[in-house]
Amino acid sequence: MKGRFAPSPTGYIHLGNVWIALLSYISTRQQKGTYVVRMEDIDLQRSKRELGEALLDDLEWLGFEWDEGPRIGGSESTYWQSERQDYYANVLECLALEKLIYPCFCNRTRLQSIASAPHIGEIIHRYDGKCRHLSKRDIDELYSMKEPSLRLAVDSCNLEFEDRWQGTQHIHLDGELDDYVLRRGDGMYAYNLAVVLDDIAMGITEIIRGDDLLDTTGQQLYLYKTLQQCYPHKHIEVPKYGHAPLLVDIDGHRLSKRQKSITIRELKAQQWSASRILGELAIVGGLIDGSRYTHREISLSDLIHLDLSVSGLRQKTIVIK
Ligand SMILES: [Zn+2]
Repeated sequence: MKGRFAPSPTGYIHLGNVWIALLSYISTRQQKGTYVVRMEDIDLQRSKRELGEALLDDLEWLGFEWDEGPRIGGSESTYWQSERQDYYANVLECLALEKLIYPCFCNRTRLQSIASAPHIGEIIHRYDGKCRHLSKRDIDELYSMKEPSLRLAVDSCNLEFEDRWQGTQHIHLDGELDDYVLRRGDGMYAYNLAVVLDDIAMGITEIIRGDDLLDTTGQQLYLYKTLQQCYPHKHIEVPKYGHAPLLVDIDGHRLSKRQKSITIRELKAQQWSASRILGELAIVGGLIDGSRYTHREISLSDLIHLDLSVSGLRQKTIVIK
């Protein structure tokens, strides 16, 4: 098997990131699998190379050892998504040839007006299929005015998958309403596209991530199906999923929103050791019973023997004080 940790280098790594890295690491090591680290720096405006390097430094300091990824290489030529755009472009060409994607010329105002509950800054998922039915002539004319986004043409379907902690998930995709963007008008590739294509290229068989991403899984599973259609001679393996509860602060805010005082850098500056950070995470996350430990320092090599099926992982959020 192959597991992975795929952070976005948009800030310093914090406890919330390490929590997910820890779970995926333990799971992969227990299955004697290959652990991959990938930098999801596809959002070129928000991601920074130096933050990616700092993130890798922090992971190394915590004791993580990956088998493929930045700094050590592997079967792929690069593990930075920003350097993998030719690959995404090639796949989009294949999807276009099979007429599985189409250009969308709608502007933001129109998209917001058709979204059921539009909030500024929120990703708009619902569409109405308007551009799916444009004539060749309309398309040619519109291209001369505007670079379109590219949407996946989704057929209505029901999907199902078994989540390691959340149980059986039933998803209904509602045809045109769920036609989602794979490349934006400004050329930026969508998270859903890059993540699926990279997981396929890197042979990832198990995805452990935060349950804030549970909602994207349906779209990603549909893309796996579509890609299999596009590449019939290639066997595309759909990974197993585990969506873990997120760490939140005492006010219920996701840790990533309030980065202050919980980055590994800051904890390190306050003389926290790597094993103290990992031990605290394992205790608050419910992986181990803290009352049985007089000290809270547990090294990564000890943590990999923990049982990940514990009930604590089925709860909604984990409060960190
Ligand atoms: Zn459109």
